[in-house]
Amino acid sequence: VHAAKPVTGAQRVGGTQITHADRELWPGITKQDLAEYWRQVAARALPDIAGRPLALLRCPDGIEGQRFFQKHGNRGMPPAIHEGTAGDQPFLSIEDEAGLLACAQMAAIELHGWGASAADPLNPDRIVFDLDPGEGVAFAEVVRAALDLRKQLQDGGLESFCRTTGGKGLHLVVPLRPEAGWELVRDFARGFARALEAEAPDRFIATVSKAQRRGRILVDWLRNGIGATAVCSYSPRARPGATVATPLAWREVTPRLDPQRFTIATVPARLRQQRRDPWAGMATIDQRLPKEFR
Ligand code: ATP
Ligand code: MN
Ligand code: MN
Repeated sequence: VHAAKPVTGAQRVGGTQITHADRELWPGITKQDLAEYWRQVAARALPDIAGRPLALLRCPDGIEGQRFFQKHGNRGMPPAIHEGTAGDQPFLSIEDEAGLLACAQMAAIELHGWGASAADPLNPDRIVFDLDPGEGVAFAEVVRAALDLRKQLQDGGLESFCRTTGGKGLHLVVPLRPEAGWELVRDFARGFARALEAEAPDRFIATVSKAQRRGRILVDWLRNGIGATAVCSYSPRARPGATVATPLAWREVTPRLDPQRFTIATVPARLRQQRRDPWAGMATIDQRLPKEFR
């Protein structure tokens, strides 16, 4: 038995070997930087990522190069990344910091998660409302939409949590006791989106047709289905600026909110300064869909 050959350009981050560590994934931001980012935020990020079916967006040549979604394993995949299937849908999953670092090693910049756990993949543990502004919609309008949606959910007895996507919109996440199947959860989400459109058709649209979206916000309920994903909290985005999908406290959801401020360079310090995880309440909330959906 001989010692492993050192790989040129490889660095250790935590216990994980990062090859081509100085390869730029974003201009001026390397694979090693991505790995160091995950190491700093792992403790906060893992509760929302570990044990959840994932699809990985890999960008081996960085954000300007070819990219592809990966949902099943391949030869040479690091052992910290696991494979699974549910209802014919393949998925990957990770458990720990080594899993996050393995994603960085694979140049998997974005982690996208199901709305269910890998342990119980047929019974969603959350609803995700993906607010997608059409052309000509100011971000302050997306903020207003998120606040309205929160209020309407509260009126139905459901607490929700907001995060930036690292892109143009916001996500609202509604934790659920995992008891109803995908069909019921999707029916509820669709009904909710359609009701918003019916009440304010000048502001909202519930159908995913690009043509009618101009000037309105798509309430995308299609994130709720088996195999459908939404970007995970704390995942970086393969977009300019290395923005990060960032969980917010509701008091941060104001017209002054600027999602571009949350990047792999700024989020670790944000977490160190926070006294409390803005989504800390999610773990202890036990809430159910209205009776007619159970
Ligand atoms: P933004 O705020 O800019 O809309 P987003 O992450 O919400 O950012 P969307 O285009 O609205 O982007 O997509 C919502 C989610 O749907 C994504 O986070 C991703 O998980 C999933 N998704 C979108 N496109 C694809 C795709 N081509 N393949 C797999 N999943 C996708
Ligand atoms: Mn979106
Ligand atoms: Mn969308």
